Amino acid sequence: MTYVFVFVFLLMIGYLGYINIWKADELNKNAYNTKQDANMDKYIRGSILSSDGNVLAQTTVTDTGEEIREYPYANVFSHVIGYASNGKSGLEASANHDLLSSHASVLTQIQDEADQEKTMGDSVVVTLNAQLQSAAYEALGSYNGAIVAMEPDTGKILAMVSKPDFDPNSIEEIWDSVVTDSSSSVLLNRATQGLYPPGSTFKILTTLAYMRQEPSDFRKFQYDCTSKLTVEDVTINCYNNSVHGQEDLKSAFAHSCNTAFSTIGLELDNDEFHSLCEEFLFNKSLPTKLQHSTSRFELDGSSSYGEVMTTAIGQGNTLVTPLQMAMITSTVANGGIMMKPYYVDRIQTHDGNTVSRTKPSRYKRLMTTEEARTLSEYMQETVKSGTATALGWYDFTAAGKTGSAEYVSNGYEGTHSWFVGFSNVDNPDLVVAVIAEDGGTGSETAVPIAAQVFQAYYSIYGH
Ligand SMILES: [Zn+2]
Repeated sequence: MTYVFVFVFLLMIGYLGYINIWKADELNKNAYNTKQDANMDKYIRGSILSSDGNVLAQTTVTDTGEEIREYPYANVFSHVIGYASNGKSGLEASANHDLLSSHASVLTQIQDEADQEKTMGDSVVVTLNAQLQSAAYEALGSYNGAIVAMEPDTGKILAMVSKPDFDPNSIEEIWDSVVTDSSSSVLLNRATQGLYPPGSTFKILTTLAYMRQEPSDFRKFQYDCTSKLTVEDVTINCYNNSVHGQEDLKSAFAHSCNTAFSTIGLELDNDEFHSLCEEFLFNKSLPTKLQHSTSRFELDGSSSYGEVMTTAIGQGNTLVTPLQMAMITSTVANGGIMMKPYYVDRIQTHDGNTVSRTKPSRYKRLMTTEEARTLSEYMQETVKSGTATALGWYDFTAAGKTGSAEYVSNGYEGTHSWFVGFSNVDNPDLVVAVIAEDGGTGSETAVPIAAQVFQAYYSIYGH
């Protein structure tokens, strides 16, 4: 089997460069941006603060009146907070309006005007926790890839890491080299813009499709895995040529049995499978303000055997962002309801008075509580007896799905390591999605990384 080269990073970086460089003149003429520029004469760009009260971005003014944007955590928050010169990215872009507005008291504003001084813009307090972010950043180590940590019942993003990273303090100095180096796409936020084959994490949706199409029979599913399945000229292997033997649906899921899931794929009405995936926002924009890429799901009733068998196990032409996989996992953890992911907890004045607060907002119910419960049970089995048993040693319960996503790039064949899952299974606290590029199997790399993030969460927030 040959899997198609999967990254569109080259395309993405081309796009970022296009927006930032070629469209700069046009954007500056745009009325909204002109208004922002006018605000820069009146306001000093406000601060961005973490949920645990640390400064993530602030502007200091030198004796000569020069305004310098500082990022105390440097590379740790580089993509999600972003930068504010050479174009804007991340929250610096999406919260730009709030940072260059002020709800300071009329008295303060009059005083500033009398002194011919600028007023401090409002502060944006984000949902990201600096301690958890730092732990996730450390956990990903030297891998390229991404981590998303979110609360399934609110949609709050608590951590979002992307590597390779950069130091936003020196964005102007490194700009020329990062925009011309298309091979590593340093500026790309892989958590929201990186498109990867989902590998076996996608079996969550294949399972859901099968449960819906065979509502009474899916519990009777039986399959005898011999590690290999050949239909016409297409052969699917179980990872590492494992022979899983006799399985029901739950054990096939827990072992991540490829041949069982390719068989399921062949039984599905793939037009219905296509609709289901689009309900889960494949081929659609995500309900979030941060820049992100649109995932891809092409399978339908007219697809070939090969496409059906590979797509059912998360290969084929399917591509997804880590954020979307976190949202799908959150839907399971949250009893079937997908929440809109969000990053801004509240806006406050420079001296700390709350101006507005974000209320968690539901996107939609995407599965019944019964469907969510069954998937949660299968994901728990993965930790109990399947590919994520390394998560079973801690003082929290966990559920999840691993993925080992094969890809081919310039003749090089590699495997991305995935894990998606949640902790405290009876009342889930945290969803974590991890992808370590070229990290091998999900079990060996992504699972231990996720374990570190869960552990950090409980040491910060308690049980
Ligand atoms: Zn198998």
